[in-house]
Amino acid sequence: MWAVMGRISKVVGKRHARDGINNAIKAGQVKRPVWCQQCHTKPQAGTEAHHSKHDRALRVRFLCKPCHVKADKAHRRGKGIK
Ligand SMILES: [Zn+2]
Repeated sequence: MWAVMGRISKVVGKRHARDGINNAIKAGQVKRPVWCQQCHTKPQAGTEAHHSKHDRALRVRFLCKPCHVKADKAHRRGKGIK
């Protein structure tokens, strides 16, 4: 006799940190700077939130697109992901 286990696996959507910062920006808790915090240019499209976890705290920096791409690549290299 087989008991059918009606176990419904709840898929809890683990929200990415990106959503958190975007929500914080929308809520006015975080102010998105106009200037890139890396190269100090003012990107037309605005800055993007870049997350780095170099220490325990999740740090957010606002970068222009080219700096964001560079930062992501450097971050990946640092983590050993090829
Ligand atoms: Zn930049």
